[in-house]
Amino acid sequence: MVIVTKPKASAEEITAIETRIINEGLQPHKIVGEALVIIGVIGTPSEDFREQMAVFPGVERVVRIGKPYTMAGRGDSRSDTTIEIKGTSIGGGDGVTIMAGPCTIENRDQLMSTADTVKLHGATILRGGAWKPRTSPYSFQGMKEEGLKLLQEAGLRTGLPTITEVMEPDLVEKVAQYTDILQIGARNSQNFALLREAGASGIPVMVKRGPGATVEEWIMSAEYVMAEGNPNVMLCERGIKTFEPSTRNSLDINGIAMAKRLSHLPVICDPSHATGKWYLVEPATLAGIAAGADGVIIEVHPTPDHALCDGPQSLTFGNFENLAKKISDIATAVGRPVKDLADTKPPISQ
Ligand code: PEP
Ligand code: MN
Repeated sequence: MVIVTKPKASAEEITAIETRIINEGLQPHKIVGEALVIIGVIGTPSEDFREQMAVFPGVERVVRIGKPYTMAGRGDSRSDTTIEIKGTSIGGGDGVTIMAGPCTIENRDQLMSTADTVKLHGATILRGGAWKPRTSPYSFQGMKEEGLKLLQEAGLRTGLPTITEVMEPDLVEKVAQYTDILQIGARNSQNFALLREAGASGIPVMVKRGPGATVEEWIMSAEYVMAEGNPNVMLCERGIKTFEPSTRNSLDINGIAMAKRLSHLPVICDPSHATGKWYLVEPATLAGIAAGADGVIIEVHPTPDHALCDGPQSLTFGNFENLAKKISDIATAVGRPVKDLADTKPPISQ
């Protein structure tokens, strides 16, 4: 951090700034220019200290040099993190993970047929929502614990690890009993109590980017989970709010590449929520992978025209099959073939 003093700062004010830095356990390094004085702060200043110094007498502005995240950041050279889950892995730079499944678990047939289909075409993680964050309180809110039981059953049946959203800190323990990965939804991306609780669960966590969050705020959400001692965290870009009304959100391709540069954590691309349109899921998926995403998470439904949530963005089984082939082609073209399951149990027929 660097402190720039006001052009008219007095010698007493500058000495007081240096004393304040030393009292904080840091070291000042003063550079006297013609019009003003710049004081470099050596050490690791806290965010609170940075804010305090911004309003300290004689200070014009404070410039942050380091990153506010220490665990989630790539630093100088940290290589990509790989998360190992039940015979497959996510991240590590050597391959692309396909996560797929329904937006919302609706009933046994819907989930089992979707799970079998996505596994058949190369998915290694099964998604399915049991508690749904709906904009309207009158929309279907999810099957809750009954849904979790079905998700667990589908995971056992196919051998696929599962991911599902947890919406409240008090539910973390329960949800973690049924799933392999906890998803923090976009709307809860800065629910710090939830992030801490998910971190404390000890199981892998995927943190979605808030619709209005900067890349730095998104990585800071992951930092919250990691600060609880949980290293198995991944980031998910699911589109941000822009002025464009023709799509549900705007997929931030820059954000994917930037998150990969700034963080060692796996970055997953969610083309379903980013676009809100089934026919845009394919180009968004392929672009996300080409931009460096370690994986994709895609919504699939046997009959999108009957889906209880997110039908317009859900792929039919046929469309998912076609997309899976293209994912494989593009992943191979960029030198990161699709990851597979070590345990290749065939789906059990119903
Ligand atoms: C979801 O994955 O079903 C979901 C609700 O996503 P998001 O939090 O990104 O809107
Ligand atoms: Mn959805």
